Amino acid sequence: MTEPPEYEISIFPAPVLRQEALAVVAFDDDLRTKVDRLLARMRSSGGVGLAAPQVGIGLRILVLNHTGEEGDELVLVNSTIVKLSGPRDSYEEGCLSFPGIYGEVMRPMRCKIRAQTVSGEAFEAEYEGFQARVIQHEQDHLEGVLLVDRMSPADKLRNKVALDNLIHDYKQAVAKAAK
Ligand code: ZN
Repeated sequence: MTEPPEYEISIFPAPVLRQEALAVVAFDDDLRTKVDRLLARMRSSGGVGLAAPQVGIGLRILVLNHTGEEGDELVLVNSTIVKLSGPRDSYEEGCLSFPGIYGEVMRPMRCKIRAQTVSGEAFEAEYEGFQARVIQHEQDHLEGVLLVDRMSPADKLRNKVALDNLIHDYKQAVAKAAK
């Protein structure tokens, strides 16, 4: 059997990144395969999190690894944020869908999540610090909310040329594909 090709990351402003993701209803082998491929893609990109919409799959699946260490992977299916708490903190975030772009984002330092495992088991858990930040960033992807919406106005201005370049590249790629 040949391995499927690596998932391709959708880059801003791909429309799929703006769509609201749908709930997972089938906890089957197909879901398990998607999760494995998402984990592999996150690992090969050196990312700390990846949301299914970032590879063009409009489903509520998140894979995370806030330390990058093997064994610290977290998989959240159909996750919702139950509660945000703690002091708010600003930190520079990046995103695999925004190559080369970084911006300060304010977020609460704690979050409580309700989610399902890859087998469909429901659970609730609380996270804090950087892990809570990564979860909130990935959770945003499920609602079509992106780094560019969250970053400070100063950083949005600072990244304007880079953002315009991504939009330009995307338009060119679409035009080329249409030929
Ligand atoms: Zn992201």
